[in-house]
Amino acid sequence: MNSSNVSGMLDTMIIGGGQAGLALGHHLQEQQRHFLILDENPRTGDAWRQRWDSLRLFTPAKFDGLPGTPFPADPLSFPTKDEVADYLENYATGEGLPILHGTRVERLWREADHFVAASNGRRWEARNAVVATGVSQAPKVPGFAAELAPSTLQLHSSGYRNPGQLQDGPVLVVGLGNSGAEIALEVSRSHPTTVAGKPGGELPLKHGRAAARYALPLIRFLGMHVLTLGTPVGRKAAPVFTARATPLIRTKTRDLAAAGVRLAPRVAAVEDGKPVLEDGTRMEVANVIWCTGFRDDFSWIDPALLDGGALPRQHRGVALDTPGLFFLGQEFLYAAVSATLPGVGRDARYMAAKIPRLGRIDVLPMRQ
Ligand code: FAD
Repeated sequence: MNSSNVSGMLDTMIIGGGQAGLALGHHLQEQQRHFLILDENPRTGDAWRQRWDSLRLFTPAKFDGLPGTPFPADPLSFPTKDEVADYLENYATGEGLPILHGTRVERLWREADHFVAASNGRRWEARNAVVATGVSQAPKVPGFAAELAPSTLQLHSSGYRNPGQLQDGPVLVVGLGNSGAEIALEVSRSHPTTVAGKPGGELPLKHGRAAARYALPLIRFLGMHVLTLGTPVGRKAAPVFTARATPLIRTKTRDLAAAGVRLAPRVAAVEDGKPVLEDGTRMEVANVIWCTGFRDDFSWIDPALLDGGALPRQHRGVALDTPGLFFLGQEFLYAAVSATLPGVGRDARYMAAKIPRLGRIDVLPMRQ
């Protein structure tokens, strides 16, 4: 679909063309809606391409397909990040989704009965606006990171690609979530490595093909159907789930210890340019990799549409105080799997049914 075919007042604009935006696009396309996806990246799938080189999914291919198109891989395999990126790109092309690439929305606001998005001097108007910009919006790094000596190379996990980026000498990986564990294991093959932090638990099984066949379907079932806003246990789990690090899935603390990675307490401060652990140890390291997660960045959205700069009151992504405003792809939007490939399709289907239709249709996006 050539996005230049889409003009006039849109029924819906989707900001963000990652898996969430594409899954919603699939459903809007089915309903023959007049919509446009605006994405800052030059190519569909770039959010995945930009992640570190050796990254593989935890979720098996059989659960990674978006609505209408299974993931084209051995169902029990764990696709690489580039395979995911290519899958998303082929999905967008195959579905004929109207995407305008290279368009970073710099402002979004409401005017009378519609929304306006602005980017680089251009503007788009739509009756409905869906924010699908992902949960990896802004790297979260402690304030004291700025005090590290300039001779220490520091990176956030979002900037890490491979050990070749690092200086010779010891590495401190800060944060023991899944990214921290996987990156620490990788860099330990070429650098003496310490990982600082406490894991939020560990999955009590070995990750791999056997797990993909027997255990991961059960975990997916729990994440899809039990840990949801529709069950008492899910509602209780939701705040804990979003606040805490996911349990270690593939690389466990014993794998790190076996690889010679030193496990250390959290980093508490930086003194004289060096990281200091909670137990007072001052770390002599050449590299620091912050695997400390991400925070939302809705600074481009009119604060009147938000709640103190954060996600406004919403149910399953439908904003309760601003008709026509939607958020998709957020953590635990409906279920524990909401921000993942296995879960986003269901949330998108629900949302597509809730997005009010614009009476007038100027140009229908055509399926290629
Ligand atoms: P994104 O993929 O981040 O896409 C959002 C898009 O919006 C991007 O293209 C971005 O450039 C664009 N954008 C942002 N702001 C603007 C703006 N203002 N204007 C225009 N465009 C904008 N999930 C799984 O299912 N299985 C896994 O094994 C798995 N492993 C993961 C490993 C890592 C290291 C990470 C970080 C995540 C992993 N996930 C996994 C989680 C999840 O699938 C991803 O975070 C996923 O990319 C979220 O999709 P999304 O569409 O919501 O957001």
